[in-house]
Amino acid sequence: MHLPSAFRLDLRRLILLFAVTTALLTLANTFYASYVTQRDLLIRQTLETNRVYAAKLADSTEGLLNLARQQLAYSVAVLAPVFDQPQKLMAETERLKTQTSIFNSTYVVSADRSLLAISPQALAKPGSVVNSDGAREAVAMRQPLVSQPFVSVIGRLVIAVSHPVFATDGRYLGYVGGSIYLRERSALDVLLSDHHYRDGSGLYVVDRQRRILYHHDAERIGEVMPGNPVIEAAISGDAGAQRVTDTDGVDMLTGYASVTSTGWGIVAQRPTEATLAKLHGLMLEILGNSLPVSLLTLLCIWWLSRLIARPLWQLASSARQMDSQPAAEQIRQVSSWYFEAAELKRAMLAGLAQFNHKIGQLNHDTITDPLTGLLNRRGMLARLEQWQAGNRPFAVIAIDVDHFKQVNDSLGHDAGDQLLRQLAQLMEQVARSNDVLCRNGGEEFMALLPETSLADACAVAERLRQCVADSPIPEGMSVTISLGVAHCPLSSAGIEHALKQADQALYVAKHQGRNRVVTAGAA
Ligand code: GH3
Ligand code: MG
Ligand code: MG
Repeated sequence: MHLPSAFRLDLRRLILLFAVTTALLTLANTFYASYVTQRDLLIRQTLETNRVYAAKLADSTEGLLNLARQQLAYSVAVLAPVFDQPQKLMAETERLKTQTSIFNSTYVVSADRSLLAISPQALAKPGSVVNSDGAREAVAMRQPLVSQPFVSVIGRLVIAVSHPVFATDGRYLGYVGGSIYLRERSALDVLLSDHHYRDGSGLYVVDRQRRILYHHDAERIGEVMPGNPVIEAAISGDAGAQRVTDTDGVDMLTGYASVTSTGWGIVAQRPTEATLAKLHGLMLEILGNSLPVSLLTLLCIWWLSRLIARPLWQLASSARQMDSQPAAEQIRQVSSWYFEAAELKRAMLAGLAQFNHKIGQLNHDTITDPLTGLLNRRGMLARLEQWQAGNRPFAVIAIDVDHFKQVNDSLGHDAGDQLLRQLAQLMEQVARSNDVLCRNGGEEFMALLPETSLADACAVAERLRQCVADSPIPEGMSVTISLGVAHCPLSSAGIEHALKQADQALYVAKHQGRNRVVTAGAA
């Protein structure tokens, strides 16, 4: 298939295409690799943050509960001896409530669940029977405990921390307790709600039954959570981090821990999407940072591809016009700065030189007489054409060997040839450097003398005649020549005429007895 050369891919475009593709692929790969790395890093970091956060909150909650227990344990020591003195019970519940900010309310309840004292006093009247689940549990268990969430007598969702009170004789008197509100401001709420994200991240605490004790979304407090692997792990006492899909189908990065003494589970979570939101900005930043260097690289590639392709392109276009005159010069000017180009250039120049040499040789052969080395008739006519173009006047001498047939006959053809060669040498000796000497064929020669007058040409002819007459040929024979001289003035139309005149003068010389010079005008 032959495409027009404008549409054909050249080396420069190929290199450019190849290099740019490679560069872009590398860039994309690097970009993708860094995206994956950053993503994994962010996910791992978030998981770790949430794990540490859940563990820390579990510790703090444990600390809060311990403090509550200690407070109650201390009060028990105060209350036991004065359990029958309502005023003192009241004073102690007041102190307990106000001195620490752990409890939303504090109270003393007798073994038959009758309320003996409460703070704040407005909440209930002493003497009433406490019917809440918490009260039943405390009286039934007769030991320090943290209750499950329950609805208090005044209709609040609470957990209660309680401690039994025994008389010195070991009789169970009742208990002292404090409640912590779950849906209102409380010590637990203060502890947990300080840390809150706005991007869907959050925190919740469940008890052993997966009932929500705290949730960043307060509406959900009191609900029972459907089980998920993280909650199950936390309430069974484990701690760690995990990527899970929550009940709403949101992909979450969660950290979890458990409050050992109560078996509560604490879960801190952050949507994976929120975590990765940063990543897009980060990747744009990476792209922005790498863009200038990438552009510079592409520019370098473009420039290099030009540099590499240029010598080959120049050599290729020179090759297309190898037969034109300035091809060699064009090729010589190609700066072949690398091995292949240099070798091609060298080979092309060598080929071209050889080609030109061959052509020169052929040209030379076509215009040269092989026997004598003088011009042949075609060479002479070519030279005359040049003179005609340059309007150069010249004189012409026509030469013929006298009785040459006899030389051939008596000495042989080879000797005849030898004589012709000798004659050519004599002509060269007599002629000047810019004279044109030629063998017309057989034993007939011609000399063209540029810018020479008829008289001067006659003198040259005479000198040649004399020279030949004086030169003995090998076998002792002497050979003579006859010459006819004519002149061609500054008019190109006269060339044919001048040649003819010289021939006629030669003819006259033969007739007049040979071995002589005859001038055209004189004839
Ligand atoms: P004339 O004085 O009238 O010129 O007599 P001539 O014998 O020189 O002239 P003619 O034309 O009768 O004979 C020319 C001879 O030259 C005939 C041919 O055998 C011979 N001859 C032609 N070409 C060559 C050649 O290349 N080599 C040799 N050895 N002889 C040649
Ligand atoms: Mg002849
Ligand atoms: Mg002759």
